[in-house]
Amino acid sequence: MTTTTDSVGQQQQQQAAAGTLAPGMTNRLEPREDHSKFWQNAHFYFDRAYQTMNLDPVWRSVLSAPKRVLTVSCPVRMDDGRIQVFTGYRAQHSNARGPFKGGIRYDTGVNRDEVMALAMLQTWKNALVDLPFGGAKGGVVCEPKKLSIAEKERLTRRYTSEIMPIIGPDEDIPAPDAGTDAQVMAWVLDTYSMMVGKHALGVVTGKPVSIGGYDGREEAKGRGVMNVLRKFLATKNKNLADVRVAVQGFGNVGYHTARLLDMRGATVVAISDKFGGIYDDSGIDIEKAGLYYKEHGQLTGFGGGDPISNDELLVCDCDVLAPCAMENTIDADVAPNIKAWCVIEGANGPTTPMADEILRENGVTVIPDILANAGGVTVSYFEWVQGLQNFFWTQKEVQDELQKIMEKSFDEVNAKADSADVDYRSAAYTIAISRVAEACRLKGLFP
Ligand code: NAD
Repeated sequence: MTTTTDSVGQQQQQQAAAGTLAPGMTNRLEPREDHSKFWQNAHFYFDRAYQTMNLDPVWRSVLSAPKRVLTVSCPVRMDDGRIQVFTGYRAQHSNARGPFKGGIRYDTGVNRDEVMALAMLQTWKNALVDLPFGGAKGGVVCEPKKLSIAEKERLTRRYTSEIMPIIGPDEDIPAPDAGTDAQVMAWVLDTYSMMVGKHALGVVTGKPVSIGGYDGREEAKGRGVMNVLRKFLATKNKNLADVRVAVQGFGNVGYHTARLLDMRGATVVAISDKFGGIYDDSGIDIEKAGLYYKEHGQLTGFGGGDPISNDELLVCDCDVLAPCAMENTIDADVAPNIKAWCVIEGANGPTTPMADEILRENGVTVIPDILANAGGVTVSYFEWVQGLQNFFWTQKEVQDELQKIMEKSFDEVNAKADSADVDYRSAAYTIAISRVAEACRLKGLFP
C-alpha cells in the first residue's frame, strides 16, 4: 500500500499557471475521457476573472493550485475472497475562509485532475454563498453500482481510514457527491468516530436523518436550482409556469431539479440519464419517471415520451436547459445548436469555456454551477452547525434559510453583472475570488 501527500509542487504550479483554453474539443458522448481538460477549464475560469480584478498577483499563484492532494491506495476484500486495490483521492484547494468542505465521488472516471478541479470549484462556490468553508473534493475510482453493499462498506471504511489524517469536523468535512449517498456518509462518520474514540457528528454532512442528517438534504441541490431560476426569471418578468425545461441527468441533482420545477408549474419536456432520455412536448410525468428510475436504475424502457439521445436533449426545443449530469457535457460542438435561452448548471463544470463563449455570443444566459448548485453545500452547512450544537432545526426553517441564501447570492451576482457589464459566470467568480483573496490577505503568510 502506498500513501503519498504532496503540497503543491513546482510542476503543478507551472501546469496551473499555464492554464489556458485547451485545444481540441471533448466528445460529448464520452465527456469524461479527457480529464485533464476539466482542471484546465476550472483554472481558466478562475484566471480569466482574476486578471480583470485589481488584486495582488501573489494570491493568484497561491489560489492557482490546490493546497494539498492526497492519493491513497485502498485494498479491499471482495465478497468472493479476492483482494482488489482501489485508488482514492482527497484534494484540498483552499481553507482561507474556514475548514475544507466538499463531496466524495465514486465513479470509474475519478482521477487526480478531476478532484483538483472540483475542489477549486468548491472553494468559489462556498465563498460565493458566503459560507465559512474552504473547498475540497474526494473520490474513489470504482463502479459503485457493481459493488455489493458489503463491498461498498468495506471500501468506504478503508478509504476513510486512509484520508483520516486530513479530515475532521474542524479540518475537512466530506459530503455525498455522484455515486455516494447518506449510507456512505454514515460509514464515514462511524469509521472516523471509532478511530478518534468519540462520536464526531460534524465530520460529515449528508448523513441519514436518524443520525443527525436533514431529510431535505437530498433535494437541496434541486431546491437551490429552483430558487435561483425563479429569481432569474423574475428579472425577465417571467415565472416558472412560463418555461419549458430540459434536464440532463436524472440522479440526485437532476431528479430533484425536475421534480421541484414541475411542482412549481414549469413544463419539464425532456429528461435523460447516461443511456438516453425522453421528450414530451406536453410535459413528462416526473413522479412516475422517478419511480421507474429508482426501480430500473435507468430511464430506458420508461414510456411517457419519445426516446431521445443525450445529444438530442441538449439541443431540444425548450426555454431552459439544466445540465445536471457530469462535467464537459456542453462543448463547442453542441453549443451553437442549443435552442434554450437559459442554461442553468446543476452539475459541476458542465460547460466548457469555448461552449460558454459561444452561448454568450448567441445571447444565451448561463447561470453558473457555483451559484446554481450551491443549495447542497448550503444545507450541508446548516447540518454541520446543527451537529456541532446538537440542536436541530425544522424542515421549514432549513428551507426558508436556504431560500434566503440562494436569493441573496443571486441578487449579488445579478447586481455585479449589471454594474460591471459582464456575464453571470464572470460576476460570480469575481465576487467569490475577491472574498477568498481578502481572507488570504488578512491572514497573511505563515511563517
Ligand atoms: P448521480 O450519480 O446521482 O446522478 C448522475 C446522473 O447523470 C445519472 O442519472 C447518470 O445516469 C447521468 N449521467 C452520467 N453521465 C452522463 C452523461 N454523460 N450524459 C447524460 N447523463 C449522464 O450524481 P448527482 O449527485 O446527481 O451529481 C450530478 C452532478 O451534480 C455532478 O456534477 C456533481 O458533482 C454535481 N453535484 C452534486 C451534489 C451532491 O450533493 N450530490 C452537489 C452539488 C453538485
